[in-house]
Amino acid sequence: MNTASPNNAKPLESMDLWEDFLKERYPEGKTEFLAETGKKATKFRNYETTARPSVREFYRLNHKYQTYDFNRAKREEYLKLNRREMGVWEAMEFLNTLVDDSDPDTDLSQLEHLLQTSEQIRADGHPRWFILAGLIHDLGKILCLYDEPQWAVVGDTFPVGCGYSDTIVFHSFFADNPDSANSRLQSANGVYEPGCGLDKVMLSWGHDEYIYNVVKDKMPIEALYMLRYHSFYPWHREGAYSHLLNDQDRAMLKWVQAFNPYDLYTKDHKKPDVAALRPFYEGLIAEYLPGKLRW
Ligand code: FE
Ligand code: FE
Repeated sequence: MNTASPNNAKPLESMDLWEDFLKERYPEGKTEFLAETGKKATKFRNYETTARPSVREFYRLNHKYQTYDFNRAKREEYLKLNRREMGVWEAMEFLNTLVDDSDPDTDLSQLEHLLQTSEQIRADGHPRWFILAGLIHDLGKILCLYDEPQWAVVGDTFPVGCGYSDTIVFHSFFADNPDSANSRLQSANGVYEPGCGLDKVMLSWGHDEYIYNVVKDKMPIEALYMLRYHSFYPWHREGAYSHLLNDQDRAMLKWVQAFNPYDLYTKDHKKPDVAALRPFYEGLIAEYLPGKLRW
């Protein structure tokens, strides 16, 4: 059934290490938007040299294997959504069966991360669809349970089919991507029209694109942007790829940015009481995403 798991599938001891690395690069409270400044090329150098070897290896594989053709193939493989039918809570429990080498005493389970994210959004008084976006934003990580390698599930996302922004961390690893030798795929616009909008741009395959497709007709556009682009750091934290954006993308950026702190900075707080919270969330799920969804 699956064609997955080539190429050293799991360099990271735990997928959380990618998110820990994001938090190092983007410390809480510090928002810089460097795409238009001269600092961009040097910004990540220190993080790259001090990153732990498994994180470095993870990015090496990600940048090497996320080719344009790989991305077309994964969309063909997954976006018929004919693998499973599950309700949202069922999908949360399924994701929670993912075991890696994280520390059960200190690290949050996948389900706890989802609830902690959504609970912080709820505590800040945001709309119900925003809370629900927090609850489901990482459900696409069930790709790991289909045996996809880590580099095809997590990692900062970036457009394929056009030149790689130098705001992408570990940019030098793109030298090993066969697309780097294809001039058609490396011009600023590549296969895209300037200003075509992100909906027409293929981002590197992973958990964002998958969950977006599962719920895309069922939630407000703001929530869909949060889901689809929450790992697109080169856009929402670096300001890159402005030449591909349309008016809708520019209008929605603030929502993607409003979501990001809840994803990155809520992880160290105390563990949520899953049983106590479940009734509230079953109600919220029933409002927007009732019954079984196709995955
Ligand atoms: Fe995520
Ligand atoms: Fe997350």
